[in-house]
Amino acid sequence: MKARNLGESDGSLLEQAMGFCEEYKKFLCNKTEREVVDYALPILKERGYKEFTLGKKYRPGEKIYMNNRDKALIMVTVGKRPVSDGLRIGVSHTDSPRLDFKPNPLFEDTDMAYFKTHYYGGIKKYQWAAIPLSLRGVISLKNGKTVRVKIGEDDGDPVFCVTDLLPHLAMNQMKKPAPDIIEGEQLNILVGCWPFGDDKVSGKVKLNIMNILFEKYGITEKDFLTAELCAVPAFKPADMGFDRSMIGSYGQDDSACVFTSFMAELESKDPEFTTVTVFADKEETGSDGNTGMRSFFFRDFLEDFVSAYGLQVRHVLKKSMCLSCDVNAAIDPAFGDVFERNNCSFLNRGPVVSKYTGSRGKYSTNDASAETMCFLRDILDDAGIPWQVGELGKVDIGGGGTIASEISLHNLDTVDMGVPVLSMHSPFEVTSKTDVYLLYKAILAFYKSKLEKN
Ligand code: MN
Ligand code: MN
Repeated sequence: MKARNLGESDGSLLEQAMGFCEEYKKFLCNKTEREVVDYALPILKERGYKEFTLGKKYRPGEKIYMNNRDKALIMVTVGKRPVSDGLRIGVSHTDSPRLDFKPNPLFEDTDMAYFKTHYYGGIKKYQWAAIPLSLRGVISLKNGKTVRVKIGEDDGDPVFCVTDLLPHLAMNQMKKPAPDIIEGEQLNILVGCWPFGDDKVSGKVKLNIMNILFEKYGITEKDFLTAELCAVPAFKPADMGFDRSMIGSYGQDDSACVFTSFMAELESKDPEFTTVTVFADKEETGSDGNTGMRSFFFRDFLEDFVSAYGLQVRHVLKKSMCLSCDVNAAIDPAFGDVFERNNCSFLNRGPVVSKYTGSRGKYSTNDASAETMCFLRDILDDAGIPWQVGELGKVDIGGGGTIASEISLHNLDTVDMGVPVLSMHSPFEVTSKTDVYLLYKAILAFYKSKLEKN
C-alpha cells in the first residue's frame, strides 16, 4: 500500500482542515500538562461531564471524568453496549521536552541573575540557547495556597533566554561534539541584570529579582523548593508556508494527539462501545511517577468504573482496544539517509499508524498484532480516512518509544497512531494541517465504530 499526498485525491481537504487547525493553534498555547488540564476541565463541565463517583453505575450516553493531580485526565462516554463488551481507549501525553527549574534555581554571576535548569525529556541542548523563553508552573506556599506562574507570552510580557557564545570566539566550542556545544549546566536562564538599590549588600541583582518576585507573587527564595517551574519556547503557534498548509509550534509532540483525541471524545455521543480518553503525563521522561502511564491510576480508575457493573477490569481490558496516540518522525529530505522510504511517514499523507517502535532489534516495543492492525485498518478504511504506515527511521540508526508498551502491559490490544512531525523535540515542531485534521477524524471513527473485535 502506498499513501499519496492528500491534495492529489481531495483538493478541498486543506480548506476543511483550516478551521479545525485555528482551534488547534489556540490549544497549542497550553504548553504544560497542568495547562492542558486547566484548559480541559471547564470545557468538560460545560459539555456535561460529571466527576466520577465511586460505585455509581453509569447509563449509556453519560459522560464522566477523573482528574489526577491536575496533570493527567481520564474522560469516559458510556456506550450503548454493556461495558463487559470492552472499551475503545485513546491515550496521548500532555508533557513535552522543556527546561525544568532546579530546586535552588536563582543565582548571580558577573552582575547577572540566572535560573539553573535541569532539562526534561530528550532535547538537543544547543537548540535551547538564544531563543525567547517563557516561564510557567506553580509554587506551593506554606499557607496552602498555590501560585500559578505564566510569564513571557502575552503582549507586553518580558521574555527570558539561555545565552550562546558569539561565533567570533567560538572556535573551540564549534569543535565540540553536538551534545557538548551547550552543556546541561550551561542551560541557565538569564532573568535580570539590574541591582537592588542598597549599596551594602552583595548579590544585589539577585536580590532585586527576589524583590520583584515577592511583590508580584508573594514568594521568598525558600518557596522555590516547593515549586514546579519550567521554561518553554515563547514562540506563538503559527501557520507555516505560503500555502499555509502547515503549523509551526512548540509541543506538537504530543499536543497534536491530545487536541484531536479531546475533540473526538467531546464529539463521542451515544457510542456503541464505551470510549475512554486518557491524557497522561511524564511520557518524555519514561512514564514514571504517579501521573505517568506506568502509574496505577489508569487501571485503578477503570477497576472502580467497571466494578459498579459487577465486572473485573482484566476481563474488560482483554476485550478492549487502545490507540496509543503519539507522533512519528516525518521524512525530512535534508536528513533523508536516516529514513527508509518504503516504511517511513510523509507529511500530508494522513495519520501514521506504527505497528512497532523501539530500537536495536525491536527492543522495548509493543508490536501490534496482525489482528490489531487489521481491526484499525477496517475502521479507517470503512470511514474513508486516508492513512499511512510509518517506522521511526532506519534499522540500527536509533529509535524511540511511546506509551504503547506501558498500555499493552494491561493485556490490552494497542497500536500507535499519530501525525508525522518535522523537527520533533525541537522548540519549533512542524506538522501538516490535513494530517492533524484527519487524525481527529480517525480517532472519532474509532470511537464511533460498531465493529466488534475478534
Ligand atoms: Mn510523544
Ligand atoms: Mn516525545
